[in-house]
Amino acid sequence: MNEIKFHTGENIPMELHKVRIVQKLHLIPVEERLEAINRSGFNTFKLNTREVFLDMLTDSGTNAMSDEQMSAMMRADDAYAGSQSFERLLEAVREVLGTGHFLPVHQGRAAENIICRVFLKNGSVVPTNYHFTTFQAHTLDKGGRIEELLYDDALKIDSDNPFKGNMNIEKLNACIVENGPENIPFIRMEASTNLIGGQPFSLANLRAVKEVAERFGILLVLDASLIGENAYLIKRREAKWKGAQIGEIIREMTSLADIVYFSARKLSSSRGGGICTNRRDLYLQMETLIPLYEGFLTYGGISTRELEAMAVGLRETLDETAISQSPRFIEFLVDELKKRGIPVVTPAGVLGCHIDAKAFCSHVPQSQYPAGALAAALFIASGVRGMERGTLSSVRDENGNDILADIELLRLAVPRRVFTLSQLKYVVDRVQWLWENRHLIGGLTFSYEPAVLRFFMGELKPLGDWPQQLAAKFRADFGESL
Ligand SMILES: *Cc1c(COP(=O)(O)O)cnc(C)c1O
Repeated sequence: MNEIKFHTGENIPMELHKVRIVQKLHLIPVEERLEAINRSGFNTFKLNTREVFLDMLTDSGTNAMSDEQMSAMMRADDAYAGSQSFERLLEAVREVLGTGHFLPVHQGRAAENIICRVFLKNGSVVPTNYHFTTFQAHTLDKGGRIEELLYDDALKIDSDNPFKGNMNIEKLNACIVENGPENIPFIRMEASTNLIGGQPFSLANLRAVKEVAERFGILLVLDASLIGENAYLIKRREAKWKGAQIGEIIREMTSLADIVYFSARKLSSSRGGGICTNRRDLYLQMETLIPLYEGFLTYGGISTRELEAMAVGLRETLDETAISQSPRFIEFLVDELKKRGIPVVTPAGVLGCHIDAKAFCSHVPQSQYPAGALAAALFIASGVRGMERGTLSSVRDENGNDILADIELLRLAVPRRVFTLSQLKYVVDRVQWLWENRHLIGGLTFSYEPAVLRFFMGELKPLGDWPQQLAAKFRADFGESL
């Protein structure tokens, strides 16, 4: 383990890198923050980074790049076909993920599009540990549907279950029997299950899923966008793997899947994505769609510079000091908030710290999007931009009613090696202030609602003048301070 212990016994995560390129941040006054969120339709996706102090919207494409990645980008071999940059990436994929065939795509959802196009048909059912927004959208788009098969306590906010991302094996068996294996093109397992708070699955569970898949002759597809962090938590939480290298754990995970896909925006601090397999027959089925939707097979819609960055970034996921930085910072954030009685998802996962908006704003009904309201309120109180992961990010049923999310979360993403500890302490301070003034937070309602993935471009308005009152209280409490 790459842990540095403090003599005082304090649990302080250490930055094992130095900062050599910096970007200036802007913290605008609360009155301007109020104006900005108003103009953005109370949707944090619509804010401009000039208005944002700490950008905790996502880890997607926002992880810090390493000097090695930046220098690799300089030797990019620009070629439509047969680029050496692609060869270097293929080599890295084989080494890190242990898969022989690789198809480059422009980002994670493009991999989902290709996989769903090839394997889904009208009426297909995809069992998964939990959905991801873009995977769900592609499944529905191809006439299929997903079934989420978690254990019951996975959605419990405060828990000591180390592997909330595990698939429920009894439910999986029942789902296959009920729907018939012929209607199930594949089982999807998502590493570090994003929407339930970045929660990992265990290797024992993945192996159990694989056994069921084999018994019924069903493919196993692994979403590996956050595989490095899942591997790190397996090392910390699954006794059998305590002494293992991250690379060993990753290859054990990928060896159990028939198809592995990923968003390189998360996995390797670059752009792009990929689909990997050891099965030539599966590779050939998907290969034909790459030139149609992505680009030629040796660039897949990504610049060759990004191919180089992806190759180096993939290898860096094997480095425990690199891969542990974000989970350790998240653990710090979660511990500090929990100490103050603020409801957060535990155990600490990866990707970000997840605040339970249903408990935080217990006076705001779910139909008024408490997690979206909390995201807007935190921006007003701090300039910190988080992301709503609740009913706003959900969809409507055939009668036009909101499908209320299982859990209402405000996610504060902690991209790799981007923030310092004092910045996280600022976040804790402002969340605590908001917690003490939570009665001021009110609900939201849509003023413009797109039909697909509405959370990206949708616009809302507050019910009442609570944002003004919150800003006024901030000004009264903080005086001249930003
Ligand atoms: C981000 C993400 C995706 C989609 O990747 P994009 O590069 O944003 O298209 C798919 N699966 C998981 C688990 C993700 O976190």
